[in-house]
Amino acid sequence: MKKDDNCIFCKIANGEIPSATVYEDEEFRAILDLGPASVGHTLILPKGHAADILEMKEDTALLGRAFALAGKIGEAQKKGLKAAGFNVVQNNGTAAGQTVFHFHIHVIPRYEGGEEMVAWKPGSQEEDARNKTAEAIRAAL
Ligand code: AMP
Ligand code: ZN
Repeated sequence: MKKDDNCIFCKIANGEIPSATVYEDEEFRAILDLGPASVGHTLILPKGHAADILEMKEDTALLGRAFALAGKIGEAQKKGLKAAGFNVVQNNGTAAGQTVFHFHIHVIPRYEGGEEMVAWKPGSQEEDARNKTAEAIRAAL
């Protein structure tokens, strides 16, 4: 398993730095975020180092297990913390708000009467421009 000696999440995931762990298995550690968006905000860290989803994309099975675990943690936030729902968020690149360059998934519980949070303001795009945008993405796949 690849590790990066300068990566704080490698150290946390592998137990070299203590954390408020909510789940651990051979591949992952799930911890409480130090700057939580809400009570119970959890981060899922793979124990192996990958900077972002692009470095994980070949390992579809591991990615699948990571997102399945996000669902399991969200379900536990609903049961254990009485959350009404939860966001699953995963940031890639500084422009997207990524600050720690070790792949991780945020699972953010949301509570009745709390802030209803989405990560964007809905915008709009003309149909022609939308079609061109879709073509640009299709051509790059
Ligand atoms: P991102 O912006 O997606 O890279 O998320 C990084 C997250 O890691 C932020 O929500 C931080 O609050 C959180 N964080 C940074 N350092 C630690 C740490 N040592 N333990 C727990 N969470 C951390
Ligand atoms: Zn790392």
